[in-house]
Amino acid sequence: MSAPVVIVGTGLAGYNLAREFRKLDGQTPLLLITADDGRSYSKPMLSTGFGKNKDADGLSMAEPGTMAEQLNAEVRTHTRISGIDPGHKRLWIGEEAVAYRDLILAWGAETVRVPVQGDASELVFPINDLEDYARFRAAAAGKRRVLLLGAGLIGCEFANDLILGGYEVDLVAPCEQVMPTLLHPAAAAAVQAGLESLGARFHLGPVLNRLQRSADGLEAHLSDGQVIACDLVVSAIGLRPRIDLAAAAGLMVNRGVVVDRELKTSHANIYALGDCAEVDGLNLLYVMPLMSCARALAQTLAGNPTAVSYGPMPITVKTPVCPLVVSPPPRGAEGVWSTEGQGADIKVLCRDASGQLLGYALTGAAVMEKLALNKELPALLA
Ligand SMILES: Cc1cc2nc3c(=O)[nH]c(=O)nc-3n(C[C@H](O)[C@H](O)[C@H](O)COP(=O)(O)OP(=O)(O)OC[C@H]3O[C@@H](n4cnc5c(N)ncnc54)[C@H](O)[C@@H]3O)c2cc1C
Repeated sequence: MSAPVVIVGTGLAGYNLAREFRKLDGQTPLLLITADDGRSYSKPMLSTGFGKNKDADGLSMAEPGTMAEQLNAEVRTHTRISGIDPGHKRLWIGEEAVAYRDLILAWGAETVRVPVQGDASELVFPINDLEDYARFRAAAAGKRRVLLLGAGLIGCEFANDLILGGYEVDLVAPCEQVMPTLLHPAAAAAVQAGLESLGARFHLGPVLNRLQRSADGLEAHLSDGQVIACDLVVSAIGLRPRIDLAAAAGLMVNRGVVVDRELKTSHANIYALGDCAEVDGLNLLYVMPLMSCARALAQTLAGNPTAVSYGPMPITVKTPVCPLVVSPPPRGAEGVWSTEGQGADIKVLCRDASGQLLGYALTGAAVMEKLALNKELPALLA
């Protein structure tokens, strides 16, 4: 039998690529390998689970066996790739070698962890996949107070969701505003005020130094001297594309695994997409770009080399207390921001000298304008 097309990862990137490929090629052997349990789920739903009262099983959409059948593929679960040997077109699972025709890296990004002192550091939970989510839900059962580390998009979404699920939330982050790298300060203030109206308490500036057990749960000692009582901690301080195995195999890496517009790495027959990939300089940790990549790469793998292009890709942030849609200006674009609106309903627009819209952030009622504004936005990868 000829060597299969091998996809590493059964997240949205891996499974969507497999689906798109099967629309074009029903026969070529296809093998998916994943370190986790291989269930199909939509990761964005992880930050809506408490509000919707859904546990991990409730968020799972299909078992790996069902996926294997649908995709006419083999799905190997709880199997971790330990190395790639590009010269011999094979990869390693411990001592076992697996040959590939083409290898696709869809192995995602991992949560950034910082060391925490104290005797309760194991009660810091990352939530970056369905199994993390199951572990956190089990630990959170019967508890009341969550300390959230990180005020980025994911931290804010979890804050809103945990409050909807009945938890008290303290949010700690060493920045001046929420979503500092993504959002204009006026829109960030509206989102923060929305979350505060639900009861969220923000501690912006300090970091968590030490987490200790106390008579009544945990004590979080912050770098500014504050002590916050809580029952458990969620860490949402950022994600880093997985690049180590690619770098060890001699593939070019930068922030992510470096690929061109055809999703090709620096080595023949190896491709990457999704959170791990840096596509023509862009590493975007969102679903829309990975769907575009899956469609283009499926064509290439089926024998029709195709470059990916990205149109405008606004991000809808799931903070229902203060709806937010944001489209940051493309890299390198120089523009001037203008702010309209007040309270929860903020519209900030970024335009260049000729008046061309480069980016926006819309909160509250202003999100209604997104469709009209999207028509004016530039493509991210034309
Ligand atoms: C809480 C949360 C909310 C989000 N909300 C949104 C949203 O609203 N909109 C949006 O666009 N994006 C959102 N995102 C981002 C979006 O979910 C991701 O961009 C997307 O799911 C990434 O998919 P992926 O397949 O690249 O990676 P992952 O889903 O991380 O999949 C990686 C896969 O690789 C496997 N793997 C890793 N290493 C190995 C190895 N060595 N061997 C074998 N297998 C391995 C893993 O087990 C897994 O199967 C959110 C993310 C989070 C965490």
